[in-house]
Amino acid sequence: MFEQSPILRWRKYKQQYTLQANQCIDCKKIYYPKIAVCKCGSLNFIEKILCGKGKLLTFTQINVSPRIYANNAPYCIGIIKLDEGPQIISQITDTKLEDLKISMPVKAVFRKYYSFNHEKIINYGIKFIPIDNS
Ligand SMILES: [Zn+2]
Repeated sequence: MFEQSPILRWRKYKQQYTLQANQCIDCKKIYYPKIAVCKCGSLNFIEKILCGKGKLLTFTQINVSPRIYANNAPYCIGIIKLDEGPQIISQITDTKLEDLKISMPVKAVFRKYYSFNHEKIINYGIKFIPIDNS
C-alpha cells in the first residue's frame, strides 16, 4: 500500500482496485488478501472478485496519522466484515466519526490514498463509505 515504485504498484493494481481474493476449491474458504496455502492444507484456489459490501464491525478516528496520510487526518478507519466472509481494515471516508455505527452497512469506493513528489504521483485505492451516504 505504501509502495512508491511505479513498477511494483503497477503489479498490485488489480488486487488493490478490485478486492481480488482467492477461494479454496476444497473447503470453499475465501481469503483477502490472497494466500498460497489454505488452512485446510490445500493449494488449489480460484480467483474471486469480492462484491465490496459488508458491515462495519468496529471503528475509530485517527487524529495523528502516519506522515503519508497527514493531509487526510483526522480520518476514520474500521474493521469491515465483507459479505463473502473476510474481514479487512480500511479507511472509512465521506463521513464523520459521530455518524458511524456498529453493524452499519458499508461499501467499497475508489478514492485517493496519498500523493508524493509534490502531487505528481497519486496513489488510489479502495476505501469504504456507509451505504446510506452513497
Ligand atoms: Zn481450504
